[in-house]
Order: sequence, then C-alpha cells, then structure tokens
Amino acid sequence: MVNVTAELQERLDDIEKRIKWAAERVQRDPREITLVAVTKTWPAEVVIAAHEIGIRHFGENRAEELAEKRVQVEQRLGPDSGITWHLIGPLQSRKTTLAADSADFFHALDRQKIARRLSDRLQETGRSLPVLLEVNVSGEDSKHGFDATHWEEDESQRQALRQAAEKVSAFPGLEVCGLMTMAPWEAETEVVQGVFRRTHALAVWLEEMAPEAKWTVLSMGMTDDFELAVEQGATHIRIGRALFGPRATP
Ligand SMILES: *Cc1c(COP(=O)(O)O)cnc(C)c1O
Repeated sequence: MVNVTAELQERLDDIEKRIKWAAERVQRDPREITLVAVTKTWPAEVVIAAHEIGIRHFGENRAEELAEKRVQVEQRLGPDSGITWHLIGPLQSRKTTLAADSADFFHALDRQKIARRLSDRLQETGRSLPVLLEVNVSGEDSKHGFDATHWEEDESQRQALRQAAEKVSAFPGLEVCGLMTMAPWEAETEVVQGVFRRTHALAVWLEEMAPEAKWTVLSMGMTDDFELAVEQGATHIRIGRALFGPRATP
C-alpha cells in the first residue's frame, strides 16, 4: 500500500501541475477546477489510497458500482470522510432509485424520464441531487445526451434545450447546475477544442435563457483531453487512467 500511495501521489502531482499550467495559459485560477478521480473497475482500496493523499471527489459510471463502493469505503472511513460521489455515466431508468439514494452529484442526465424518476425517489427520501445536463455536441452516434449538435444555427434545437433545462429544473429534488459533455474519440485537437468551446458557449446562452437553473458547472475533459477542457472553461474534469493506470476491463 505504501508503494501504491507513493505512485498515486506522483501521478496526482503531475496532473495538478498540468491543470495549473493549462489554467495559467488562459488566466484562470486553478482552484476553480475540481478533479474527479474516476475509480470505475477499481476496488474500494484504491479509493481509500486516493483519499489518503487528499482526493475527495470520486466518479463512477455505474450506479450499482457506486452504491457498493460507497458502502465499502464508508465501512472503512466512516460517514464523515468528506467524499463526494459523482455518478458520471448515463443512467437506465431501472437504476434511478439506486442513483437517487447513493450519488451526491449526477453528471449525465440525458432525458426527462430519468429526471422524473429521480425526483420521485428524492421526494420519498428527502434527499436532493445536483445534476448536469449531458449534451451531445460532437454529433458522434455513440454519445448520450440532449442533442446540441447544431445548437448555434438550429433555433428549434436551441429551444428544445432551453425547455429541457426548464422542465428538469422544475422537478423537486433536482438542482440543475450546468452541463457535461464528452469529446469525440481520437479526434484532432481542433475538433476537441471546438466541442469544449461550443459547450461552454451553450452554458453561457442557457444562463441567459434559462435563469431558473444555475449554469456554474462545466464537466468536461478526461485523461486524454483535460488540458484542452481546462483552457475552454471546464470546472470539473473526470480523470481515470492518468491517475490509476489502464483499466483491466473497459
Ligand atoms: C471512464 C470515464 C471517464 C474517465 O476516463 P479516463 O480516460 O480514464 O480518464 C470520464 N468520464 C466518463 C463519463 C467515463 O465513463
């Protein structure tokens, strides 16, 4: 465990340096950026080692895995570990109860049906859940999210996004805080930059047009592109491999 921690610390230092440099290139304060450590496929011990070096935000892409790991980590660290559990992957409707009960932050809200089901459960338990609307800006078929592929030119797409924001905000227990997006896989730098820039611009537009929600969080950037995301205004970056190494199973 000593070695694991030392290696993890080295990787964290490197990532933090790169965040700082990227932020400085665009005159941002690096403290505006939250590193979400993505522990999917890794056991609870890895979360505990990361907690030991000061990481407090953890991301999982499956609700079951988040719920299980959260219990295991709390058994070891107690309920006051200061950890925020981020559910970053898309949610199936039969998993909404689990998500509403165990996630502290949900990045990938991509349809109203999920919002309604989360809200129903949150009202039963009295919890509340900050959420981000996931938007598909790149147009890649594999990407989830509200369609925002042509939001600048397409008035009806833009209005659909505004209405989605309005409707989701109206569900009790859900607190819309911003947007999440994924860059296209293996795309050129300019393409990735464009996706992040356009997502940021969409958040600025929504801030004006959908004032019932907050538009302060922009979750974008992963191991391969987080510096580009920071340059384009990301407030939350979701990092797995750069911290923990390659995953055994995808
Ligand atoms: C796995 C995952 C990440 C982290 O990806 P890395 O390339 O390992 O940094 C970020 N966001 C989502 C939604 C993921 O599923």
